[in-house]
Amino acid sequence: MHCPFCGADDTKVIDSRLVADGDQVRRRRECLNCRERYTTYEVAELVMPRVIKQNGNREPFNEDKLRAGFLRALEKRPVSMEDIEADITHIKHALRATGEREVDSRVLGELVMEHLKELDQVAYVRFASVYRSFQDIAEFRDAIESLEAVPGGEDGSAS
Ligand SMILES: [Zn+2]
Repeated sequence: MHCPFCGADDTKVIDSRLVADGDQVRRRRECLNCRERYTTYEVAELVMPRVIKQNGNREPFNEDKLRAGFLRALEKRPVSMEDIEADITHIKHALRATGEREVDSRVLGELVMEHLKELDQVAYVRFASVYRSFQDIAEFRDAIESLEAVPGGEDGSAS
């Protein structure tokens, strides 16, 4: 990085250590041009990206809204809160792992569908039918057929 004093490109790291319980790297640097010393901190960027809605508006990621979406799809389905929370954690992790500051709401929607598909197929179809607002019966059938392609998606009992 450029020296904040003289703008020179060449700096050398003279000390590097973990701080904040290992969550940050503190580096002491020296400019090879002007010999000034300064400190930089490196942290992993794990902020939750903002969500870009279909109309282009940006809004903060809303965990409650995500949970409400799951609960709506899973109404009266035999799925525990524990499993739902685990999925929400996975989705949050996946969003952070993108490293992006903004993600399209479609990315979030697809993540939810992916998880519901594993969790409960009825909920998946409920969610997909609202989310994708199926245009016609053929699209709906495609979604159902895609379920049958999931290995081990049912309980395995042979018919
Ligand atoms: Zn300098």
